[in-house]
Amino acid sequence: MKMHNFNSGPSILPQEVLAEAANAIHNFNNTGLSILEIGHRTSYFEAVLHEAQQHVKSLMGLGNDYEVLYLHGGATTQFMQVPMNLLDANATAAYCDNGIWGNKAIKEAKLFGNVAVAASSADKNHTYINKQLNIPANSAYLHYTTNNTVEGTQWHHIPDTEVPVIADMSSDIFCRPMDFNRFSLIYAGAQKNMGAAGVTLTVIKKDILGKISRAIPPIMDYRKHIEADALLNTPPVFAVYVSMLTLRWIVNNGGLVAMEQKAKERADLLYNALDAQPLFTPTVAREDRSLMNAVFVLPTPELEKEFLDLCKQQGMVGVKGHRSVGGLRVSMYNALPLSSVQAFCDLMTDFSNKHA
Ligand SMILES: *Cc1c(COP(=O)(O)O)cnc(C)c1O
Repeated sequence: MKMHNFNSGPSILPQEVLAEAANAIHNFNNTGLSILEIGHRTSYFEAVLHEAQQHVKSLMGLGNDYEVLYLHGGATTQFMQVPMNLLDANATAAYCDNGIWGNKAIKEAKLFGNVAVAASSADKNHTYINKQLNIPANSAYLHYTTNNTVEGTQWHHIPDTEVPVIADMSSDIFCRPMDFNRFSLIYAGAQKNMGAAGVTLTVIKKDILGKISRAIPPIMDYRKHIEADALLNTPPVFAVYVSMLTLRWIVNNGGLVAMEQKAKERADLLYNALDAQPLFTPTVAREDRSLMNAVFVLPTPELEKEFLDLCKQQGMVGVKGHRSVGGLRVSMYNALPLSSVQAFCDLMTDFSNKHA
């Protein structure tokens, strides 16, 4: 039986992508070779990489002033690689403190330079997004997390500032159209909304590079990756391939306009159901609700356990909240069918009726 997959990451992928990736493990594009057996400097893999880079640029509407890299080490490595490349030891970068992931990014940046917290929502346990930013004029950049995967909040506009904007888009990349030209650097682990675990997308506007004095180990230096045409060392070939297939699926299914429309349909269905059930209570400010990760609670741990057991029986996985915040979380990434959200809403209704 196919599960209803509400996992927060790694998470659901399109069925077509899984089928094609499975084929490619046996026979990639009729080469008689597995995708796992081809060299990364072959024309076979270069075609995969170039198609992925092309899809990223066209979905984001970016020109030749941007470079698209697939890097190792997850979004977590970007927490350090960004300041290592862009923040001088005596300089300051502004960071938004809106959740667990942004907080980790702040800690890493402090290892390289000064951090000014532009805004924090820690006063209310990150159950809202503090949008009143105080950004020092001389900041090297502003860093923020577009979607707070754990807490279930999402920015619905791009912060307005003169300084270069850098965003961790790990959990909502390609869920909606945005003015991507407003960003100087964007990164996202592939395993939430654009592929399998093992690779991280980093999109860089070239003019922000080369402005600091620190010596950078080549594998951490964005410029070295760009000079090497994104093949500085062996990339995770299979993960890049799955990401390319996922991007192709987005393009062939109406692009970002269609992704946003579907995301809104799923989120409306779920949040309307939550609002209609007195038993289930969303934990975040209404205006900051995430289209991707909905976080909510039941009145007691006992009821939560009973409900989670029911979810399991119904083939619904990934409903338990992050260990740091507890409660329940439903993740609704691009590949999640509306029917899975409907099944979940029906289960909530049954549960509420039983406990009314
Ligand atoms: C999952 C996640 C990360 C961490 O990604 P890794 O690939 O595990 O390093 C960072 N930021 C956000 C917003 C995330 O959702």
